[in-house]
Amino acid sequence: MMRAMTNNDWMKVRADFPILDQQVNGKPLIYFDNAASSQKPRAVIAALAHYYEHDNANVHRGLHELSSRATDAFEGARMKVAKYLGASQTEEIIFTRGTTEAINLVANTWGVRNLRADDVILLTEMEHHSNLVPWQLLAERTGAKLRFVPVVDDGTLAFEPALLDGVKLFSFVHISNSLGTINPAAELCRAARATGVVTLVDGAQSSGHLPVNVREMGCDFYAFSGHKMCAPTGIGALWGRMELLQEMPPWHGGGEMIVSVTYERATYKQPPHKFEAGTPNIAGAVGLGAAVDYLENIGRSEIFAHDSELAALAVARLGEIPGIRVLGPSGQRGALAAFHAGWAHPHDLTTYANEHGLALRGGHHCTQPLMRKLRLPGTTRASFYFYNTTGEVERMAEILRAARKFFDR
Ligand code: PLP
Repeated sequence: MMRAMTNNDWMKVRADFPILDQQVNGKPLIYFDNAASSQKPRAVIAALAHYYEHDNANVHRGLHELSSRATDAFEGARMKVAKYLGASQTEEIIFTRGTTEAINLVANTWGVRNLRADDVILLTEMEHHSNLVPWQLLAERTGAKLRFVPVVDDGTLAFEPALLDGVKLFSFVHISNSLGTINPAAELCRAARATGVVTLVDGAQSSGHLPVNVREMGCDFYAFSGHKMCAPTGIGALWGRMELLQEMPPWHGGGEMIVSVTYERATYKQPPHKFEAGTPNIAGAVGLGAAVDYLENIGRSEIFAHDSELAALAVARLGEIPGIRVLGPSGQRGALAAFHAGWAHPHDLTTYANEHGLALRGGHHCTQPLMRKLRLPGTTRASFYFYNTTGEVERMAEILRAARKFFDR
């Protein structure tokens, strides 16, 4: 068994992130906007540089050395992602630009093929716009209806099996980016599967933060973004069950995804290539593969434990500041604490924090309907990753205590 990570180990990990070692507005940078995008370790930056310095070429179609190296690197990254998610086959991984594109892919392929007027798409009231708007567009196109699992006061879902009546697809977020709620994904998928409902899990906030095994989770699709888990922007993936992927029509047409083409029609490759038209983000995939190696080397359980410690400390410290109400569950939560401060608008507060070197995010966090339901103009969010420290959380509390004195006069 591996030994537990010590503080010293975490400080060594932190030193892998050159960007963190800087001053902002004359103060040491505290980067607490990880739910929006994470920072990149040297190993990932080096993998990108190595790819461009040594192996860069287009994939799959060249018979020359660089093209076969680029293809190996690209397909090697797919294998790493498949193993990382516990997929049964490497071919179940489709590279996309990220979570948003992965969800749109399912809506425009599986959704268009399978949904009819009055079929129900079940979502939750805590979805990010990227797991809401694609289904609204699909509902407009097919006449399907949207239904929502309610969010209750403590930020959890009030799910009951009756909500699955008439449902064809249940798409829900694994970890909420605005509440921090960790939804019981396996339980929800089990209930859906029992009534033949297909499930999609939005893993944008979970893929880099806790161990994920799609087969144990029992979902049918899982979408995530690389940039939230130490990889570059512009790369992510959709995992889908092979039986479903095989039946789905292609979405984008073009090069790479065909077997043969006449002027009139085309035949398509097997998944994943059927869904990857055009030159893919090769370097991005290589970077994602390096990020997966990096995270696995630390261990996702270790990352989850560290993140949880930071989140719990933040909730405790924020709760000590008069006028601050932290949203979301009181127990176990994802690596973030979003709060409402009665004495300052989130934009004013994040501007104040920035003057002290502290990167927070203020606003609706792409969950406008949830903010409306909570009757909030938005919230201020601190979101953590394994390279953050308890010292930084204490410093955030100090800055926010001073902010209260500044605003609450
Ligand atoms: N879903 C959740 C829960 C998110 O937090 C995000 C990004 O913030 C997304 C989806 C969209 O991810 P991307 O913009 O990388 O496609």
